Amino acid sequence: MKQLFFLLTMLGIISSCTTPSGNQSDGNVVLVIHGGAGTILKENMTPELEAQYIAVLTSSLQAGYDTLQKGASSLDAIETAILIMEDSPLFNAGVGAVFTNEGKNELDAAIMDGKTLAAGAVAGLTTVRNPVLAARAVMEKSNHVMMIGAGAEKFAREAGLVMVDPSYFYTENRWNGLQRALEKEKMELDHADTTASIRNYYSPDYKFGTVGACALDNYGNLAAATSTGGMTNKRYGRVGDVPIIGAGTYANNRTAAISCTGWGEYFIRSVVAHDISAMMEYGKLSLNDAANKVMMEKVPALGGDGGLIGLDAKGNVTMPFNTPGMYRGYITKDGKVVVKIFKD
Ligand code: ASP
Repeated sequence: MKQLFFLLTMLGIISSCTTPSGNQSDGNVVLVIHGGAGTILKENMTPELEAQYIAVLTSSLQAGYDTLQKGASSLDAIETAILIMEDSPLFNAGVGAVFTNEGKNELDAAIMDGKTLAAGAVAGLTTVRNPVLAARAVMEKSNHVMMIGAGAEKFAREAGLVMVDPSYFYTENRWNGLQRALEKEKMELDHADTTASIRNYYSPDYKFGTVGACALDNYGNLAAATSTGGMTNKRYGRVGDVPIIGAGTYANNRTAAISCTGWGEYFIRSVVAHDISAMMEYGKLSLNDAANKVMMEKVPALGGDGGLIGLDAKGNVTMPFNTPGMYRGYITKDGKVVVKIFKD
C-alpha cells in the first residue's frame, strides 16, 4: 500500500488531495515560524531584501532548533525564535512595530504551553523591549492570563525585563506606512465614501508582519507564541487577535500548536486557533484539513485575510494563507531548514 502511495505521489497523481494548500509537510518537524502574511509579491521585493528576510527567518529557526537540541522545552524554543524576530526591524513585532493612528507603537503578545494549557498574554505595551518575555512572565510569575497597558508594564519591570523608551520601536519605514494610511483615509473621508474608507484603513496592499512560532520538544510537548505591533493606523486601545488565547494563539498537546497573522478582528470573531484545535479534537480532522478549513474557507467567508502556522504532536506542520504571500519556515528533527515567502 505504502509503495503504491509513493508511486502515485511520484507521478503527481495524488499530491493535490494530500496537500490542499500546498503548504503541508508530514512528520518530523520540530519548529515552525511565521513573520506575517499579506501582499508580499516577488515583483515588489528586491533580491537584497528577500535575502535579509530569508537570513533572519533561518537564524530564528536555527536558534530555536539549537535550544531544542540542548534538551530545552518547546516554550524555550519558541521564545528564542521569537526574540530574534522581535529584535529585527523587518517584522511588525518589537523594534519595527507598526504605528497607531496617534503615532505610537502598542505591542501585543501571547504564549501558551500545550502540556498544561497555561497561557500568558499582554496587550498595549509601549516600553517593554520584548513583549514575548512579558507574556511568558505573566504565564509563569502571576496568577493571571492577560495583563494590559500600564499595569502590564509595571509587572514587566518588576519581573526584571528590559524596559526601553517608546522611541526604541521607531523605524522610518513603519512611520511612512502610517503617513500613507492617514493620507489614504483622509482622501476617502473627503469623498465621503465610508465603505471604502473602512476597507482601505486596512488597505489591500497591507502586510501583516506579526511573528509567531510553534515547537514540539523532545518530551512531546507543544507550545505556541505570537508577537505583534498590531495593525497600522489602529485606534487607541485596539487589541487584535494575537494576545487573545484561542484566537491568534493556542497550544494543546492533544491537538496542535497554532499561531496566526492577519486581520485580527476576523481572527477573533472566528476564534481561529481554538477552532482548529476543536475540529481536530472533536471532529477528528487532521491538522492540515482543520487549518485549511478555517483559513481558506471560514475566515475569507467573513471577509478576513491572513495566514497561520500549526504543528501537531506528531510533527506534522501546516502553513496555509489566503494572501499572496507569508514569511514562513520550519526545521525538521534532523535540522533541515525550509523557508518560504511567496506562494509555492
Ligand atoms: N493579527 C495582527 C493584529 O490584528 C496583525 C498581523 O498579523 O500583522 O493585530
